[in-house]
Amino acid sequence: MPTQELTFRDKPINLNERGGRKWVYAKKPSGKWWKRRTIVAWLLLGFWVAVPFIRINGNPLILLDIANRKFIIFGAIFWAQDTFILALLMLSFVLFIVLFTVTYGRLWCGWTCPQTIFLEMVFRRIEYLIEGDYRERHQLDNSPWTTKKIFKKTLKHGIFILISVAMTNVFLMWFIGSERWLQLITEPISQHLGGFGIMLLISAVFYWIYSFFREQICTMVCPYGRMQGVLLDSKSIMVAYDYVRGEPRGGRGSGDCTDCKQCISVCPTGIDIRNGTQLECINCTACIDQCNKIMKVIGKPQGLIRYTSEAAIKGGHSSVWNARNRAYTVVLFIIFAFFVFTLVSRPEIETTILRTPGLIYQEQDSTYSNVYNIKIVNKTHEEMPLELRLLSHKGKIQMAGNSMVIKDQDKFESTFLVYIPKPEITSDKTEIEFGIFSNDKLLEKYTTTFVGP
Ligand code: SF4
Ligand code: SF4
Repeated sequence: MPTQELTFRDKPINLNERGGRKWVYAKKPSGKWWKRRTIVAWLLLGFWVAVPFIRINGNPLILLDIANRKFIIFGAIFWAQDTFILALLMLSFVLFIVLFTVTYGRLWCGWTCPQTIFLEMVFRRIEYLIEGDYRERHQLDNSPWTTKKIFKKTLKHGIFILISVAMTNVFLMWFIGSERWLQLITEPISQHLGGFGIMLLISAVFYWIYSFFREQICTMVCPYGRMQGVLLDSKSIMVAYDYVRGEPRGGRGSGDCTDCKQCISVCPTGIDIRNGTQLECINCTACIDQCNKIMKVIGKPQGLIRYTSEAAIKGGHSSVWNARNRAYTVVLFIIFAFFVFTLVSRPEIETTILRTPGLIYQEQDSTYSNVYNIKIVNKTHEEMPLELRLLSHKGKIQMAGNSMVIKDQDKFESTFLVYIPKPEITSDKTEIEFGIFSNDKLLEKYTTTFVGP
């Protein structure tokens, strides 16, 4: 433990002595890392807004159509039948998250988490613009309700409400697509009262989170934040205070920390990074920038607070690259490659053939027949003429309805009869194999049973 101060463990930093909310007035960050994070955040925000409008072969880049159990990921459609692939992708995703966190700590929280991006890069920036930096905001909140205060608060909350509504609409497009969204907002509200109510409710929740609840999402609600305790270890890379270099602090010895508490003043969760790794630290890098400014002023090397690991601090070396971190990074690349491979190597079609429930065989003069239900999903972006052939036996197939031409990304469902000559059926259950062809090219084989006498 780098410091003698242990009271931070007694209660959350944003609670006062009586258990009420203690508002965190974080200083506006600035510096090298803040600029880098701003660039990443605006790129991600641009991507988030653009996703519903970007098309790949006519499909949105990403669509999470839960109602129709249809998911589009990078233009590739996944149906409910693709559960196996989706489960595999989910499993590899979970493994990716675990390994990523063990190696790179809370990089996700500080740089890419939507909560951090919206709060730090959108809502707080507007607050800085309207109400000023932490001292002005603190004064304003504790001052009487003058015309100036009413104006500033109304303007800020008005903009917050507008952004919350806009956010809800962009999220909505991720789930229903931009065309359907456009249709919904251009039709009379009376036709979509339920949907309109849900939209208002979600907007209200966003407004409440970013106006009032804020950092408590990270410190009290987020399950990923809670998992850090078990996922991080001494080799994980994280924003950390170099207590070997910094202590004893405050000019009481040779330590570089001046005890200026600037790192605390800039922290959006209000913690003191010098107390070591804490659940509340979202690794936002604001304290790195702030401490670097102090180091510059006192003429000491930068990086008293930096991206490092407990093992590197203890060992007195600056590199965080050890064998474990290198190995995990390789595994992360392999998982990512597997993810991409699974996406691009899906079969073109997916067939399900089942004997019609409740029916047994029928007997004709020289044949037995069974009735089957067939379902084929066309996962390509082209219309496909398909043909079903019996591969394992002589016999014939009689399809109900029209020919099997399936539009791109569409489904075909029908019923068909299979007639097999009597001498070929020697038991009550015979395994038969079908081939699904398109322009004489075999796309898939499917095996099922044929019942006989
Ligand atoms: S900003 Fe740096 S020097 Fe100041 S208290 Fe924090 S760690 Fe110490
Ligand atoms: S301790 Fe530093 S990195 Fe962690 S949340 Fe606070 S300012 Fe961000």
